[in-house]
Amino acid sequence: MLAVWVEQLLGYASGALKVIRRDERYPTLVAWAREEGPSLVGGKLPMAQALAPELWSQTPLERLDFAAEPLARPGRNEPCWCDSGRKTKQCCGAVRLPGPVPGHLMWMLSLREWKGDTLKAALASGRAPAQALLEAGLIAAETGQRGRAQQILESLFERGDWSRLPEQAEPAFEILLDLYQERGFTRKREALLDAVLDQGPLFLRGVALERLCLMHLDADDLDSARAAFVRAQQALPDSPTLAYIEAMLLLHEGHEQEAAERARFWFRRLARQGELDPDQLQFLADLADNPGATLAEQLLNAEEDLAGPLASLQALLEVLPTAPKLRVSGGAEGRLEYRQSEREASLLAAWRDHFPVEAAGDASLGLEGDPWPVAGEWLPELCAHPEWLDAPAVVEGLVLALTTRFGSLPWMAPSLFVPLAERLERWLEQVAAEGPGALVWEDADNALLLRTGLALVVGMERGARQRSRQLAERLLALDDHDSLGLRELVLDQLLRDGRDAEALAVSHPPAGEPLGEGALGLLLGRALALYRLGRQEEGVEALAEARQHNGHALALLCAETPRPGFPSGAGEGDVEPGSRAEAWQYRTLMRDQWRTTPGALAWLQAWLEANPERAAR
Ligand SMILES: [Zn+2]
Repeated sequence: MLAVWVEQLLGYASGALKVIRRDERYPTLVAWAREEGPSLVGGKLPMAQALAPELWSQTPLERLDFAAEPLARPGRNEPCWCDSGRKTKQCCGAVRLPGPVPGHLMWMLSLREWKGDTLKAALASGRAPAQALLEAGLIAAETGQRGRAQQILESLFERGDWSRLPEQAEPAFEILLDLYQERGFTRKREALLDAVLDQGPLFLRGVALERLCLMHLDADDLDSARAAFVRAQQALPDSPTLAYIEAMLLLHEGHEQEAAERARFWFRRLARQGELDPDQLQFLADLADNPGATLAEQLLNAEEDLAGPLASLQALLEVLPTAPKLRVSGGAEGRLEYRQSEREASLLAAWRDHFPVEAAGDASLGLEGDPWPVAGEWLPELCAHPEWLDAPAVVEGLVLALTTRFGSLPWMAPSLFVPLAERLERWLEQVAAEGPGALVWEDADNALLLRTGLALVVGMERGARQRSRQLAERLLALDDHDSLGLRELVLDQLLRDGRDAEALAVSHPPAGEPLGEGALGLLLGRALALYRLGRQEEGVEALAEARQHNGHALALLCAETPRPGFPSGAGEGDVEPGSRAEAWQYRTLMRDQWRTTPGALAWLQAWLEANPERAAR
């Protein structure tokens, strides 16, 4: 019954709005209501008449700078406001509407109609009810009108009067943040998050902090993520969101044990307060039991259409049989060469029918396009043809796809990356067994194995650190030119594990080899290792060399809250040696290690002050 009413009301209001916009005069609406209105409300003339003054009174008028022109509600014995000439009690006063007429309806409908300057002016008038902005914004987002959605939702959150926000504004807030992200409005996104964190209502602050943490985690900026978390803890000490953010953060930092312990703490604390619903409590209990698996499952469930195929892939990888041997031969000058077999080529051809993109040509991690929009096609096909994974080129494509999507999420490593790494490692063992020699990138099909290895090292870096480092060391042993730039990565991981002497050794390439692209990281890593080993005097030499390589890096590493180095998203691209972007990248990746080494940053700062840079470099 009510659904019929809502539908009739919407149809009638839309028709009425169209008529009102002809001249914005009440008599025009009333004439329409009597002639055409009844057909929109089941043929009922009294209802059509009664609705006209109700809707008119709330309609924003362009000629009044978007104010309405509300009619005074007449007394029972006064002439009716629908201009029928009868007394109200015998006219509209006697009509009972089947349901309520929302006070923001005409604003909401107008916001859906207006375009360009009119829409802009209407929003600028500040008269739109929050509920109208909310609903119109959500509808625009749902129907793919992203520009309109952004414009409308911005005006909902930018009016500075947070107290008027309806509680249902939370999804709209998330949608606006998503829109900013999709459309590349990085600054606006950060400004909105900041504004909400500073003065926003409590129910938005939790979401804002969660987003801020995730944003930093996405950019691999653990230090800023930790700072956002501390801020969250002060602002919302009892929010269940904290438990979830802290678990994510600790897993990113590589502290799985502590993540479980902290989740247990949150469970006990929040359970005692008794304000959580059973689902939230269960989630916390699961988190305490196994943080990684719980976050992985939550992520898969959030993937909507892909949740099923991704779960099938996990199941498939768990029981994947050992791959057949590769064709490897000792080539000229003690080089090792892997060549794709005919069977592998035909498996690859079958996979390519479904998987649309190829690996980017050089040593980098990228694919030439994004395979995820069509993952609903290739994921199920792959699950139906597990034999495809006998071909290294198929493993390569899959690993690159998984790394771009899940590589920054530590909890995805055990179920997705580790089984594939086992497969590659068996192949690499086989390569090494062919005899001593180097696996050179340019030779035969070697690049397939090396690139897959790099993607797996990166994919496991946060969630399966030991495995990641072992694989990196194995690759580095086979590929002594370090065409993958793994030396710096291995060094960073050794420092994270506190294996400083080994880190120091890795920071020196074999005799005669240049430091290469990772020079800055190698030099600063060497300096940190030496500092930790109590060999500060040698460390100073590494600092001086690092400064010679990049004039920004040391000061940027010391700075507490520097201005960001490059727009987010540019993090994966190549950076110029010696540039501020390169310095920023190092800070993002490794500052937490410097900060948590007692005295290290102070040592660095003191050296900088004692050795101001000479004018000519
Ligand atoms: Zn009337």
